[in-house]
Amino acid sequence: MAEEHKPVDLTLDKTARELRIEWAEGRKSVYGFDYLAALCPCANCREKRQEKERNPLYVLAGPSGPAELDQAEMMGRYALHLIWKGGCASGIYSFDYLRSICPAMARESLDAEAAEKEADGGDG
Ligand SMILES: [Zn+2]
Repeated sequence: MAEEHKPVDLTLDKTARELRIEWAEGRKSVYGFDYLAALCPCANCREKRQEKERNPLYVLAGPSGPAELDQAEMMGRYALHLIWKGGCASGIYSFDYLRSICPAMARESLDAEAAEKEADGGDG
C-alpha cells in the first residue's frame, strides 16, 4: 500500500452512524454504516451480492433496517475489522478496499476513466 493511501485518522461515530477516515494525502472519506454493512468484503457477503446481481428475485435473508456497529478493531496496519450487530462479523475492510468504495473517490475515478476514453478515442 502506498504511503499516501494510509489513514492518519479514523473516527467511528456511532451517533452519526458513519466512519470517517482522513488519509495521509489529506483526503477525507465518509462512509455511512448502512453503506459499509451492505458492502461487507467477506467471501460470504460477496457471494450473496453476486447472486443478487444474477437473480433479481433473490431474497436476502438476514436483518433488515439500519446497520448497527457492534465492534471494531484494527487488523495490523492495513485493515479494519467491523462487526455488525445482528449482521456479518467477518468483514475485514482493508484500507485499499475502503478507498475503492469511497463514494467521493469512486466518482473521481469514473471521471478519470471517461477522460481516458476520450483521450484514447477511436483506437481499438
Ligand atoms: Zn460479510
